[in-house]
Amino acid sequence: MRPIRPGDRGPAVTEIRAVLTGLDLLAAPGDEFDAATERAVRAFQQSRGLSADGRVGAETWRALDAARWRLGARTLYHAVPDPLIGEDVRSLQERLLEMGYDVGGADAVYGVRTSRAVAQFQREVGLKPDGSCGPYTMGALRRLGRKVVGGRPQWLRESDAIRQSGPTLVGRTVVIDPGHGGTDPGVVVPDGTLRWTEADLVHDLASRLEGRLAAAGVRVQLTRGPAPRTCLPDIDRAELANSLGADAFISLHTDGHVNPAADGVATYHYGTDNGVTSATGERLAGLVQREIVARTGLRDCRTHAKAWDLLRLTRMPAVRVEVGYLTSPQDRARLVDPRFRDRIVEALVAAVQRMFFPVERDVPTGSIDVSALRAVVAAGAVRD
Ligand SMILES: [Zn+2]
Repeated sequence: MRPIRPGDRGPAVTEIRAVLTGLDLLAAPGDEFDAATERAVRAFQQSRGLSADGRVGAETWRALDAARWRLGARTLYHAVPDPLIGEDVRSLQERLLEMGYDVGGADAVYGVRTSRAVAQFQREVGLKPDGSCGPYTMGALRRLGRKVVGGRPQWLRESDAIRQSGPTLVGRTVVIDPGHGGTDPGVVVPDGTLRWTEADLVHDLASRLEGRLAAAGVRVQLTRGPAPRTCLPDIDRAELANSLGADAFISLHTDGHVNPAADGVATYHYGTDNGVTSATGERLAGLVQREIVARTGLRDCRTHAKAWDLLRLTRMPAVRVEVGYLTSPQDRARLVDPRFRDRIVEALVAAVQRMFFPVERDVPTGSIDVSALRAVVAAGAVRD
């Protein structure tokens, strides 16, 4: 759909303004997308970790729609076949995650895992474990929530699950997501007679990474081919990874900026401005970022928490890495060199390997000899 933008009028704008007014971001409802509405949309987008462009496209629309519901305003339960969706569900999931309950992810959908986590919580606090969240359960959450928040108990639960599955890569499933494609080339830079596109470069990176991981015994799935007809939306990319039960998800992009001096690598994982974070996503992002910086010398633009669909809806450790700016002559000169792209791929393989090492057995950045990985992995597999 075409984004709703400043200057627009009509019923859609009326709805947007009503939700923003309800969230105290806007002084009054109305039917015109004026400057105050644009500021409110930007503030809303920032609070949700969305790109703050001040326009209401599909992603912002869904977030606004879900934001109508505040936690505690209605009873939540596992509805079949149409599950309850809303910001209140997400708040509940984030609270449960903070307290160490396994809800899968904070996807704002009240599914079976959320219902099970609520039932487990109810059992532990002496309530009837019916898996629905009404006034009594809300009260218990309010009383107990505060005590356990801050200790990051979800670290324990998430890293326990990874520890139990052991350090070997054999039999793991990794979904690699080359960004853009089809009608969307991503960042495009004319360079003399050549035309470099982000979509082509990241697909090349993805196929190199696929080869290296497959050699280490990993089951690999790419979200798209080299020249798809259309561009797969991020929701579908996340759904593909979920349906494959992937152990890790890596989305590959290059960045772009009007200022050619902008350069460097940055990695994103799921999280919000309130400090809620996917512990394993944050760990994978840190490993990816450090290995790439150490092995390529790209400028370190650090890791960041974002609530993008791709990171929010994936149920496994998921990262999006922007490996350099195609608009930076310096980064571009390196990215177009296949040997440099191999170094990025080695960094990614090392990061995936370290992801499955228990934290206490982790090794220094840059120390894994990726070419020897297969032998190491094979030896480990025999021991297991
Ligand atoms: Zn991109």
